[in-house]
Amino acid sequence: MMTRMIIALGARSLLACGTLIAAAAPLHAQRTIFDRVIVHGRVMDPASGLDAPRNVGIIGSKIAAITTAPLTGKDTIDAKGMVVAPGFIDLHDHWQSPAGYRFAALDGVTTALELEGGAWPVSEFYKEHEGKALINFGATVSHGGARAEVLKPTGALDQAKTAQDTLVLKHPEAYRRATPEQVRQIQQLIARGLDEGGLGIGFGLAYTPAAGRDEIFRLFQTAASYGVTSFVHVRHASLAINGGSIDRRRVAAHRPRHQHGARRHADGAGHDRGRAETRRRRPHRALSI
Ligand SMILES: [Zn+2]
Repeated sequence: MMTRMIIALGARSLLACGTLIAAAAPLHAQRTIFDRVIVHGRVMDPASGLDAPRNVGIIGSKIAAITTAPLTGKDTIDAKGMVVAPGFIDLHDHWQSPAGYRFAALDGVTTALELEGGAWPVSEFYKEHEGKALINFGATVSHGGARAEVLKPTGALDQAKTAQDTLVLKHPEAYRRATPEQVRQIQQLIARGLDEGGLGIGFGLAYTPAAGRDEIFRLFQTAASYGVTSFVHVRHASLAINGGSIDRRRVAAHRPRHQHGARRHADGAGHDRGRAETRRRRPHRALSI
């Protein structure tokens, strides 16, 4: 089990590894009493490319030595048979809660980010976890959340007869097209969320099938004006309704660094193949944001 075989060091460790591997002098390290040493582990550091058995010496919250020499510490962790690595950054974490952070930490994750779905309201999200989270956390502004606030969902779930009815009645706003004025209001709310610390804009396009090309285009413009990335849950063409048809690549393909495709469904493979064909035939028809 990977979970039990990783010792994840804090986020700062990545930098420390890169700079201290060469600098750590074995003789000096042998004289130092470290706060904690991690011995006999397989140390992996993507920043430097190191992948070898090493001992790690920690002073305070920083890595002070990575060496093959024996180290002495006030506290010793034997990592034989385990990987010692910088904490992982998870870009796709939907479990933003005390329990979720705990499980993430056990997986070696020290930063869990909700980038695809996002959070709404953003200020409430940060207030809820600030000072209590076990690991680093963060979220984008949820397009779906801001959209729901503007389109004010209503519905009677007990009228649902099918799974599709349930989805529609639970999130009826997702199936209504926004007017230009409502799109402007969504833009304003999302801008507010970015001001409150949103890390970008999260688009669950599969869950907002009526969000049309104009709406998404305007919001990509908002993202571009803030210099942040749009994280997009891909929508199948079959899910677009009420004028919600959109090819996100045509809107964003010219600025790929501003867009992150967060998901590709296995059952969407047919659609994706079709899109790839389209892209090959019309490679230069992306819109300018
Ligand atoms: Zn997801």
